[in-house]
Amino acid sequence: MSDLAQSVSPSFSLSGQRALVTGANTGIGQAIAVALAQAGARVTCAGRRDCTETLEAIAAAGGQGDGVILDFADPMAARDLFAGEDYSILVNNAGIIRRNDSVDFTEEDWDAVMDTNLKALFFTCQAFAKARLADDERGDRTDPIHRGAIVNIASLLSFQGGIRVPSYTASKHGVAGLTKILANEWAAKGINVNAIAPGYIATNNTQALRADPIRNGAILDRIPAGRWGDPSDIAGTAVFLASPAARYIHGAVLNVDGGWLAR
Ligand code: NDP
Repeated sequence: MSDLAQSVSPSFSLSGQRALVTGANTGIGQAIAVALAQAGARVTCAGRRDCTETLEAIAAAGGQGDGVILDFADPMAARDLFAGEDYSILVNNAGIIRRNDSVDFTEEDWDAVMDTNLKALFFTCQAFAKARLADDERGDRTDPIHRGAIVNIASLLSFQGGIRVPSYTASKHGVAGLTKILANEWAAKGINVNAIAPGYIATNNTQALRADPIRNGAILDRIPAGRWGDPSDIAGTAVFLASPAARYIHGAVLNVDGGWLAR
C-alpha cells in the first residue's frame, strides 16, 4: 500500500480495547454494547439489573463481554470502577425520563432525572478520565497517544425544548454542554469526548409517545425518513465515535435522527 493510501485508510476496529456501556440491558445501550463487541472491543455491560440478554447476544456474535450492577440513582456509582483497569471506551447511555406539566412538576422528578442523566454522567466521565490520565500524572507519558473515547448519549432535547419533560430537557442540554467542556479539557490529553443525539427511537423510553396516536402521528409526520428509529440505527455511530476513524472529532453532538433536525 502507498504511504498516502496507508495514511488515509480509516480504522473502525476496536480490537484490543475494553469498553463500559451504561444501561446496557435494553434499548439503545444494548444495541451499542453488542455493536462495540462485534467491532472487537471487550464490553462490560453495566445496569441496575443484570444484562443477561445483552451478554447472550454478544456471545452469539462471537464477542467478549461481562456484566456489572451499577445504579446511577447514586451519581457516584462508578467512582471506583476504572482505577487500575484498562477501559479505553466509555459510553454513558443510562437515562430516565419523567413526564408532567411544568406547573405540576415535582422536585423528586427533577432530582431523579438530573442525578441519573447529568450528575452521574459527569462523575462517571471524571472517574474514567482520572484513570486514563493517571500515568500522565506519574510523568510516564508525554507523547500525544490516544488514551480513550467517551460517547455520551444526548437527545434532540439537547437542542429543542420538548413538551412536559422539563428535567429531561435540562439534563440533555447539560449533556451537550458537558461534552463540549470535557472535550476542551481532555482533547489534548488524548481523550475524545463526543455525544450522539438520537432522534425518536422505539424503546421503553418512548413507549408512552408511541401509544398516544396523536403524538405518534405528529412525530412520524415530521421525520423525513418516515419511520421511528431502531436502537441499531444508533449503534454504528457509537462504534465510529469510539474508533480510530474519529480521532479528530472532539466535542461534537452528532444527531442521528432520520432527518428530524433538518426539517
Ligand atoms: P430505555 O429505557 O430502554 O433504556 C434506558 C437504560 O438506562 C436502561 O438500561 C435503564 O435500565 C438504564 N437506567 C435507567 N436508570 C438507571 C439507573 N439509575 N442506573 C443504571 N441504569 C439505569 O431507553 P433508551 O434505550 O431509549 O434510552 C437510552 C438513552 O438514550 C437514554 O439516555 C435516553 O435518554 C436516550 N435517548 C433516547 C431516545 C429515544 O427516542 N428512545 C431519544 C434520545 C435520547 P432499566 O431497564 O433498569 O430501567
